[in-house]
Amino acid sequence: MPINNRIAHFHDDMTAWRRDLHEHPELGFEEQRTSDIVAAKLAEWGIAVHRGLAGTGVVGTLKVGNSDRAIGIRADMDALPMSEANEFAHRSKTDGKMHACGHDGHTTMLLGAAKYLAETRNFDGTVHFIFQPAEEGGGGGRVMVEEGLFDKFPADAVYGLHNDTTLPVGEVSVVAGPVQAASDSFRIHITGKGGHAAKPHFCIDPVLVGSHIVVALQSIASRRVNPLDSVVISTCQFHAGSATNVIPHTGWLDGTVRTLTPEVRDDAQRLLTQIAETTAAAFGAEARVEYTRKYPVTRNHAAETDRIAAAAARVLGEDRVIRERVPSMGGEDFAFMLEARPGCYIKVGQAGADKGQIPVHHPSYDFNDDILPIGASIWSALVEQELPRG
Ligand SMILES: [Zn+2]
Ligand SMILES: [Zn+2]
Repeated sequence: MPINNRIAHFHDDMTAWRRDLHEHPELGFEEQRTSDIVAAKLAEWGIAVHRGLAGTGVVGTLKVGNSDRAIGIRADMDALPMSEANEFAHRSKTDGKMHACGHDGHTTMLLGAAKYLAETRNFDGTVHFIFQPAEEGGGGGRVMVEEGLFDKFPADAVYGLHNDTTLPVGEVSVVAGPVQAASDSFRIHITGKGGHAAKPHFCIDPVLVGSHIVVALQSIASRRVNPLDSVVISTCQFHAGSATNVIPHTGWLDGTVRTLTPEVRDDAQRLLTQIAETTAAAFGAEARVEYTRKYPVTRNHAAETDRIAAAAARVLGEDRVIRERVPSMGGEDFAFMLEARPGCYIKVGQAGADKGQIPVHHPSYDFNDDILPIGASIWSALVEQELPRG
């Protein structure tokens, strides 16, 4: 079974759905129009629809036969707060909002699978189609789990996917263990002593202190954490001052920390706090650290990873399913669902010869519609494999 024929038959429809979503991007927890469309399509195909988890979350439930087995499949629906640089007809109609991560494509692939499975009903058990809000930093997946996603919709396993601009169309990576990093954020408030820029000896300069902190934080990766463990600390904002001849009184830095194990995550938080506070103290200033744990490591479970690898191999062929690959230091809030249930998060290649290679979060990113039937076929193959008829 390569690409499912019946799914390939409505490829044009899926492309139209995807482009419509692309034209109308909505930010995290604001996916009103998107969730209306998802809910309407599911209902049209005879799938029971539940709305309201995490606000705009939608869960479609399709039960066929008598088996108690159930699986969840999740797609994300939100866009990013950035402006689109593409010029094609279906470019974003809203300046400052863009589907630059392909969540419009993920939503469409899961809708395609839902349509196929509702029409063919060639399985025995229950599928929950989970459409979550706010993957991009808002933690919509976490909120859905906290609001009882898997109590209301019990599932033996849960699966998710993301498009991948570095893999060719027709290849997927399906890897056990950590695949995406824990993602935390920090803000460091520095208090010095403001004054005249020509009389620095009467001041404590928070710009100088902050600069030393930025540099010293890089010693965590290079000198404090085992070189065989992974940690990224990026200071991404530095704000201070209002004039060329005034040493400001305060300043602040913020940024992100990415790690792959709970131990290194704990170490990074402790060391970052210690370095910021003691570096500031060395200059007579004061630093106060706010550290926020956002997404845990996305860790695939071994048995479920083998299962979806088998389903993907039925669609694409064994040799197109990559089973070993280094993790990404990007974060992913599907991690919360994988902490609640066993499951797997896979990457679906979208790099074509002349499209699909521009990285996600880039203003010229474009989801490659060629892969819509691939994703929908993998989900459908997984359901038919995991919930086999008598
Ligand atoms: Zn993203
Ligand atoms: Zn994404």
